[in-house]
Amino acid sequence: MRSPIPDYIAEALDRVVSDRTGAPAGYIPELATADPERLAAVFATVDGEVYGAGDVDAQFTIQSISKPFVYALALADRGFDAVLDKVGVEPSGEAFNEISLEPGSGRPFNPMINAGAITAHSLTGPEGLDPAERMERVVSGLSAFAGRRLETDESVWASEMENAHRNLAIGHMLGSHDILAEDPHTVVDGYTRQCSLLVSAHDLAVMAATLGNGGVNPRSGERVVAEPVIRQVLSVMSTCGMYDAAGDWATQVGIPAKSGVSGGLIGALPGQIGIATFSPRLDPHGNSVRGVSLFERFSSDMGLHVMAVPPAARAVVRANHVVGAGPDAVRVLEFQGGIRFAGGERVVREAVETVGAEATVALDLTRVSSIDDVARRMLLEVARRLTLDGHEVYLVDPETILPDPDPGDGGRVVVVGDLDAVGRDRLRTTPAQH
Ligand code: GLN
Repeated sequence: MRSPIPDYIAEALDRVVSDRTGAPAGYIPELATADPERLAAVFATVDGEVYGAGDVDAQFTIQSISKPFVYALALADRGFDAVLDKVGVEPSGEAFNEISLEPGSGRPFNPMINAGAITAHSLTGPEGLDPAERMERVVSGLSAFAGRRLETDESVWASEMENAHRNLAIGHMLGSHDILAEDPHTVVDGYTRQCSLLVSAHDLAVMAATLGNGGVNPRSGERVVAEPVIRQVLSVMSTCGMYDAAGDWATQVGIPAKSGVSGGLIGALPGQIGIATFSPRLDPHGNSVRGVSLFERFSSDMGLHVMAVPPAARAVVRANHVVGAGPDAVRVLEFQGGIRFAGGERVVREAVETVGAEATVALDLTRVSSIDDVARRMLLEVARRLTLDGHEVYLVDPETILPDPDPGDGGRVVVVGDLDAVGRDRLRTTPAQH
């Protein structure tokens, strides 16, 4: 069978291909020469599968899509406090190249506008790196996100530097506020090189999937940055990634995202996929026209909005029944799916409301696919309280979804591989009754 996913992506491209509104970025002369007809969309799953259609391997410069990744490197290299001290996390609601800094401190509002991104660039690697070493940190870091060594497009870099008056002005303003500890010209040069790294839509989808996968590149298996860094980066992308269009994007698309002036656009959906599109014509905010339409379509077709309400936690309780009678009665609570706080509450409620005189309670996790930390603690507390109330508690856990369960003070659980084992275990441990 042929996967329907690439066909779906190709069909989505067909629907936007006739839209020729907008124009490629003109302020970087070299970008204005890009073929405006180029079009691609790629999905990369968090387990490393890649699907695409269109010009998936066409190379273009990453531009502002480098910003979330370089912010991640700065957080990883210098720590949260040092970075937050120099770059805020408030949406500015302004254009990407606005010359605006927080009044008083001079701190850029966020790392997705140029002022914040130039500062984040200067915070990669340890303090005191020379420009070449810093560039190597940025290139190798972004390459790890992509899973292959990325190269600079020297002509785009030179073209942008010749016209970098605005970014240089931002750099000097940052310097005057002591936000930049180094020569502003050198930092802007490095930032511009960072923006000139060549990527394809395929690369960007894998980079986005690395964000969606908590910082581990799903194809190479490399952990690029720690999970708390990813949470910070995705949060900032969701509030600031689309500049002055961030509110429209958050409501209509609802996927943490970042755009670049060469026409790339990425979105990262935590735990699901990374998406990248490429089409050079831009709207007045500097976001790819067809890219925005594609993302709107993907989000609504596939229910990808992060604020979409997931199925009710009620589904966590699969069955609740009593097997056997009298002293042999076993109360069996069967759970299923992924259990988080709301699901954990259903587990607690089910136990509180239905466990009665049965001597034995089996908590059956056979069909549970995942259980997060708070739900794990809630389940073990249920086990502890049931023990204190005089029940014998079994955990049916054939896949070891709950390794080394320790219900703590006064609690006791016996782990078994299947429900039948509960009966066999009871025969062995309580022979007097049989
Ligand atoms: N290098 C570009 C700049 O600094 C990046 C802008 C963008 O992609 N939005 O102006």
